[in-house]
Order: sequence, then C-alpha cells, then structure tokens
Amino acid sequence: YLIDDPNYSFLKDLGLDKKNVGVFNGKWEANGQLIQSYSPANGKVIAEVQSASAADYEACAKAAQDAWHAWAELPIPSRGEIVRQIGDALREKLQPLGQLVSLEMGKILPEAIGEVVEYIHVCDLALGLSRTLPGTIFPSERPGHVLIEKWNPLGLIGVITAFNFPVAVFGWNSAIAMVCGDVSIWKPSDTTPLTAVAVTKIVESVLVKNNIPGAVAALCVGGRDIGHTLVQDRRVKLVSFTGSTAVGQQVGVEVQKRFGRHLLELGGNNAIIVNSDANLDLLLNAALFACAGTAGQRCTTTRRLLIHQQVFDEVVSRLKKAYASVVSRIGDPLLPETLIGPLHTPAAVEAYKSTVAEVVKQGGTIEFGGKVIEREGYFVEPTIVTGLPHDSPLVKSECFAPIVYCIPIADLDTGIQYNNEVDQGLSSSVFTENLGDVFKWIGPHGSDCGIVNVNIPTNGAEVGGAFGGEKATGGGRECGADAWKAYMRRATVTINYSGTIKLAQNIKFGD
Ligand code: NAD
Repeated sequence: YLIDDPNYSFLKDLGLDKKNVGVFNGKWEANGQLIQSYSPANGKVIAEVQSASAADYEACAKAAQDAWHAWAELPIPSRGEIVRQIGDALREKLQPLGQLVSLEMGKILPEAIGEVVEYIHVCDLALGLSRTLPGTIFPSERPGHVLIEKWNPLGLIGVITAFNFPVAVFGWNSAIAMVCGDVSIWKPSDTTPLTAVAVTKIVESVLVKNNIPGAVAALCVGGRDIGHTLVQDRRVKLVSFTGSTAVGQQVGVEVQKRFGRHLLELGGNNAIIVNSDANLDLLLNAALFACAGTAGQRCTTTRRLLIHQQVFDEVVSRLKKAYASVVSRIGDPLLPETLIGPLHTPAAVEAYKSTVAEVVKQGGTIEFGGKVIEREGYFVEPTIVTGLPHDSPLVKSECFAPIVYCIPIADLDTGIQYNNEVDQGLSSSVFTENLGDVFKWIGPHGSDCGIVNVNIPTNGAEVGGAFGGEKATGGGRECGADAWKAYMRRATVTINYSGTIKLAQNIKFGD
C-alpha cells in the first residue's frame, strides 16, 4: 500500500487510512465491497475503501431526507456561512488534497491543485449568492393583487461524478446546492474513492463544528449499481450527472421516466478553428495544453484542430515540434518537472491503442506519437493525426486520450460547419485577429457549443461563467450567476389583498 510509504504522508494529513469507509450519513459505516484505489502512475494500490451496499444507500437517503428539514429552515446567509467555512477548510488542505488528486486521478499537481481551487472559488460564488438570491415581484393585471416568484429548495439531490474531476465537479454542485437549501448524496467515480472520502471528511469537519447533521452532505462510494439505485430513487429530486454520453443518456431517460429533474454534463468533441490570420505563437501555446494537457482527459480537451489550408503545414509541423519538446516531461504527475501524467486506467490505454490502430487502418497518418510508453503505470504518447476526413466516425467520436485530429479547412464557414457537425456540443474556440469573424463565430451561425472561446484553448473554464454543452453533451449548466436555478423549484404566488375575487383576463360570468 502506497499509504504506508513516507513519500505519501499527505494521505494521513487528510485523515485517510489503509482501509477507509466510503459511506457517510452523519456516521461513517459501510457494508459493500472493498474497492482498491490504484495510482495510475505506477499501478500500485494506494489504499482501500469499503463501498456502499444497497442498505447503506437506503440509510444515506433516509438520513439525508431527515436532515433536510432543519437545513431548509436555516436562513440562507447562515447556509452561506457554512459554505464559506468549507472554502476555508479546503484552503487549509489545498496542498495535500491536490496531491491526493494527482496521485489517484493522475493529473499533474498544478492542475490537481487548480481543481481544488475551483471548489474554493465556487464556495466564494455560493457565499455571494447567499446574500443575493433573487425573487421577483411582478405587476398584476388585477387591482389589489401581487404576483411573487418564490424559490424553494428541491430537497434531496444526487450528484454522480466522473473520475477526471474528482473534486471540482462535486464542489460545483455541492456549494451552490447547500446555499439553495438542498441536501445531497454524492456517488463519486469508483476509481477515485479516496478523493471522495477526503473531501467528505473536510466538509464533515465544518458541519460538526456548526452542529449541522452530517447527512446534509452524504457520501455513497460505489459503482454503477449504486448509481443506478440513486437514479431510480423518487426521493432524489434532481440527479446531477457528469460522465460519458452513453451512460448520461440512460440516466436522463431513467430520471425523466419518473419525472425527476436531471442536469447532464456529458462528453465533448471540442475543436479549435485556426483562421488564416491567427496568431500562431498564441495558437501553438494554447493547443499544446488543450490537446495534450491532462493526457487528453478533460471533457474540454481539444480533439480536432480545424486549420486553414494556408497555414495547415506550418501548424502541424510546429505542433509536432512542441510535442517533441514535452515527451521527456511525461511522467510521475506529482513531480514538479512533469507536464503530462498517465491515463487513468488500463482500459483507457486499451481504448487509446485501438483508436490508434483504427486510425492507421482507415488511412490516417500518425504525425506524432501513437505508442504506449514502456514503463510502469498507464502512460501513452500524445498523438497527432492527419489525413482522416472531417466526417470520419473516428473523428466524430470522443476517445478519452491525447489524440488530436488535424483537418484542413478552406475558410471559417467550413470550419464552423465541421465544428458543428459532431453530436457533442461542449467547447470550441477560434484563433483569429478579425473582429468580424469573432462576431460571426459567437453569433447565430457560429459555434453551436455551450462554450465558445476566442484566442484561448477549449479547456480551462472559470466558475463565473456557466459551464456545460448542447446536444449530446446533455444541455446542463453548472456554475455561473444563475446556476442556482437548477437546484431550486419555482412557485408563482398570487396574493389577493383587494377583498374581492377578480379573475385574470377580466373574465366575468353572466348573472
Ligand atoms: P462514466 O460515464 O463511465 O462514469 C461516470 C459516473 O457514472 C461514475 O460515477 C460511474 O460510476 C457512474 N455510472 C456508471 N454507470 C452508471 C449507471 N448505469 N447509472 C448511474 N451511474 C452510473 O464516465 P467517466 O469515464 O468517469 O468520465 C469520463 C467522461 O465524462 C467523458 O466522456 C467526459 O467527457 C465526461 N465528462 C464530462 C464533463 C462535463 O462537464 N461535460 C466533465 C467531466 C467529464
């Protein structure tokens, strides 16, 4: 167990042990299978987590529902104060929690710390909301009447998260939902269970200090069985699901069947368009991070470079040089010199290998990379592909690995057409110096994605803006100024203080 190795003493700073309990509902108790958590950098077991049984899930749901009543009655600014304290507790554990994310998920330490910072930022956003949550009074057409829009918490919500952002995605949901007055059950990815336990311990420490029932933020570590149970549970008013399009589609249908609400954050197939007038220095700098960073394991990773034919050869040749300059810096994500870490699982390595084989079979050219790196852990070479048609099924699907397809375009209109022709609609960017092209890109005939950037990579969002995508990305939005609406229910209240009954539209019945 890596937890016994003094090099990983930060695990103990987070209250983790060799065997951890993966269920929290005010108390820590689990009866499900033991899950081993592996480091993708070396394939070794970090520690173990006992997951939730069906009965454990039931206990969580019941405890969370019971906890909701008092939580919903707490004034909103008081809930904001709890979230502020969670932000501070995260600040205190920033370094060890970042190290754990790096060790368990595999992203490099600066990105892992950035992910914890994102949770802290969303706590700040939620704190502000706790003093500003709006409700509108509308003019009524009836004399002596008033129309009020009243927002109330949903109650119990479920948060199912993906492996690649094991802290931030929970934080985006939890901080805002807490301020809104909801309680939650978190079902994290079963390949990042230690991170989920560590985050929940931090949240628990704040709840305990304030005499708030822990079940306000319940945790159920488990696999698809627990996810499925949560999705089916009618008590769960909203299922916020982050993960692949295939699973998200099933989740959406299941939740809809019981008329629950869903918030879906699914796969992407993000493109950067390189205009003929693009600043190529800027582009190359951005593209390296966007295509190869996080070993291609961001939902917003650039998977397609749509490059104007006038600069196509130059961009591909310079990108190859840029990739060549970082291959020596692929390695242990916890080391300061590392720029690119491993893939998360052996299954991801297999998906990478079969995609590369299929590229070759279909007549594509591997311009750079294409191989698994022979060392312990799950490392692959970042890969550049040319020669596949823009509408090839490979180009149109998301392989969650560092493979980018370079495709020539004749003009911006063609670039926009290609950008929009895939099923997914998460993130997109154009590199140009032309103001008219910028406005075309962000206008009705421009990108159809939820994230539409100019002269920056497709990845690396801020919490101030709404995050999410259209089409097969699921249509959900998290963060941003009005994210709270997803976690509340809206009632239109009409109050009559006139002393007589008057009907709308001035309807009068005959005598
Ligand atoms: P995944 O779909 O395999 O798993 C996501 C979560 O769903 C996990 O917690 C998993 O245990 C759970 N799950 C699996 N089957 C389930 C079922 N039948 N019912 C309920 N829950 C179930 O995804 P992953 O491999 O962990 O993550 C990678 C994917 O997530 C990529 O497609 C990526 O683009 C996407 N992603 C999207 C966003 C976004 O904001 N749009 C963010 C991060 C990741």
